[in-house]
Amino acid sequence: MISFPESSTIRERIIAIRKKLSPSVRLIAVSKYMPTDFIRQAYAEGIRDFGESRVQEAVSKKAELQDLTDITWHLIGHLQSNKAKLAIEHFDWIHSVDSLSLAERLNRIVGVAQHSPRLCLQVKLTDDPSKFGWSVADLKSDLVALQACSNLRWRGLMTILPMGLTERQSLDVFTQAQRLAVEITEETKGLLPLNALSMGMSNDYHLAVQAGATMVRIGRTIFGDRPQL
Ligand SMILES: *Cc1c(COP(=O)(O)O)cnc(C)c1O
Repeated sequence: MISFPESSTIRERIIAIRKKLSPSVRLIAVSKYMPTDFIRQAYAEGIRDFGESRVQEAVSKKAELQDLTDITWHLIGHLQSNKAKLAIEHFDWIHSVDSLSLAERLNRIVGVAQHSPRLCLQVKLTDDPSKFGWSVADLKSDLVALQACSNLRWRGLMTILPMGLTERQSLDVFTQAQRLAVEITEETKGLLPLNALSMGMSNDYHLAVQAGATMVRIGRTIFGDRPQL
């Protein structure tokens, strides 16, 4: 974990994080609640992946950033089913597919849409009522139905750790996620190819990458504390 003085710039923070990450790990700058000016500063440092948690907010920001045509937009927050169509139009990745009913809805929409984002299954490795996502048992029982969603482009597994774990426990949970992704990829014979592992945030990305994360989602360490909404 790195901490920065208040006065450090987005540029300095990105440089420091990059030093800690292997170039093969995709750094997603989580810009939720942050102004588009911050996105431009990160873009100027070469960041091309941005994470947003709310569809409507991302749509407004994209309108302000139309001149930056090569951004990859990642939806990382819970997706309400009534926003599914808008999310499919506007995002390149949806990390937060967290239920079979949402997957089936996305499958129907993608079937007639121009655009098909890459998707991650969101799982909870520990019992955590405050988070969305499949439990491992529920995910396993939904695998056949998920494979039947043949319009969808599954790419990975996403997880968020519960609060309050020790470093040891965090590493252990991330490792379980990594194994689960391999297991599902093998079991479904490539119909659910979960080669991407989206895990690790400001507090725990150093552990997530040890366990094999291929994408980390970092907000506060790049942009500073978010405004309280
Ligand atoms: C907000 C958020 C992040 C970024 O968290 P930080 O602690 O600011 O790095 C990552 N992933 C998800 C799903 C989030 O909602």
